[in-house]
Amino acid sequence: HTTLCVEEKRHTSWFGAALEVDWFSLSAVILLLCTAPFLVFFFVMVCDQYQCSVSQPLVELYSGEATLGSIWDKAPSFTWAAAQIYTVWVSFQVVLYMCVPDITHKFLPGYAGGVQDGARTPAGLINKYEINGLQSWLITHALWYANAQYFHWFSPTIIFDNWIPLLWCTNILGYAVSTFAFVKAYLFPTNAEDCKFTGNVFYNYMMGIEFNPRIGKWFDFKLFFNGRPGIVAWTLINLSYAAKQQELYGYVTNSMILVNVLQAIYVLDFFWNEAWYLKTIDICHDHFGWYLGWGDCVWLPFLYTLQGLYLVYNPVQLSTAHAAAVLLLGLVGYYVFRSTNHQKDLFRRTEGKCSIWGKKPTFIECAYRSGDGGLHHSKLMTSGFWGVARHLNYTGDLMGSLAYCAACGFGHIHPYFYIVYMTILLVHRCVRDEHRCSSKYGKDWKRYTDAVPYRLLPGIF
Ligand code: NDP
Repeated sequence: HTTLCVEEKRHTSWFGAALEVDWFSLSAVILLLCTAPFLVFFFVMVCDQYQCSVSQPLVELYSGEATLGSIWDKAPSFTWAAAQIYTVWVSFQVVLYMCVPDITHKFLPGYAGGVQDGARTPAGLINKYEINGLQSWLITHALWYANAQYFHWFSPTIIFDNWIPLLWCTNILGYAVSTFAFVKAYLFPTNAEDCKFTGNVFYNYMMGIEFNPRIGKWFDFKLFFNGRPGIVAWTLINLSYAAKQQELYGYVTNSMILVNVLQAIYVLDFFWNEAWYLKTIDICHDHFGWYLGWGDCVWLPFLYTLQGLYLVYNPVQLSTAHAAAVLLLGLVGYYVFRSTNHQKDLFRRTEGKCSIWGKKPTFIECAYRSGDGGLHHSKLMTSGFWGVARHLNYTGDLMGSLAYCAACGFGHIHPYFYIVYMTILLVHRCVRDEHRCSSKYGKDWKRYTDAVPYRLLPGIF
């Protein structure tokens, strides 16, 4: 009783054909392209100039006390020192990614590193990836620690001290890599059959044309930019903020420790599960354009670390009860996030021959066709967390995100931007994913949504 469906309508619009982009998506794309870099600048600048008050610059602008020009002039500009730091950083990550094959999987039980297969692309290809992110993270952090403790080549506050100049450098790389990927898709695509042209140049630039652009056999743009310079830096940026608190006030607040610990769990989880990450939407379904290229270089390192930045300017010391509540929310959120992802991974890997919550999982059998006309079978699980709601992994992620924000107390809305953004991102992602699944699985998807009617919160949404 399976329904055969062609995976996504987009297969009618593969290489060479035009896919219609509606005016709403197009306006959203142009709006984002024009405003996102300024939004990032705004959130960093308000800390530098207004102690993270979001309303103060707006009030000053309204009353005429400040102008856009005066705010811009006060912000630190590009420096060659920052350019050097950033060049060394990205080059070092390229070397770790390309030249140091993974050995950690040989002695870490349960860790899947080394050469791994990605998911089947719409054209039917299965790419190979060198999974060595955990190793890169460990080497980078060991060097950071060795420098802070023994070598003293640079101050651990180096990132914070160059933060706005670094913002300009990351923007240069973000735009350069997105533009390169865009031009490459026309001139020398890695796999022409996996390219998606929509007929709209802005949409192509933003959402990407090539599916898995590569240079040579191993330099995969998506995995490198998604999983190296920004995410490896995330924990270092937080450590740099903690070092700055220590330097400024002589102590590190419990809120800063909480943010460092909870976000480090999330980052380490990403690296521990990097092989699993090859099967997530970013790698499996998104094309590589400005959304991923610029987003990974600029948006992620600057906006995912706003809590630590806020705490440098506002050293909040939480009561024990507040700190305990934040820790609990963060850990429960992480548990839901990880367990939900793990259940699906286990279910898919074993093709349903596993135990979920002590029982054999229940599922719906589905079939679909890929772009090359091949017939494939799949299963949608209806037990465990996937029987409670259709995306509890997002719910767990949102609980964790709320915990980072709540660690900053309730003095300003600045650190809460993250939960607002994550809610928009994951609700939009949920809708986008369900639209794709519905096109892919057709009636079988309807059977699944009838069996599991809620998306993120059972009984509510
Ligand atoms: P999922 O891991 O939830 O993957 C969705 C896919 O899983 C669907 O497209 C479908 O793929 C398959 N699927 C859906 N329902 C079922 C089911 N019942 N049984 C089996 N398979 C099913 O989504 P993401 O890749 O978006 O997210 C992975 C994690 O990454 C999440 O925890 C998310 O929170 C996190 N994330 C974090 C971000 C951040 O910025 N911090 C950004 C994005 C994600 P198929 O076609 O194979 O059937």
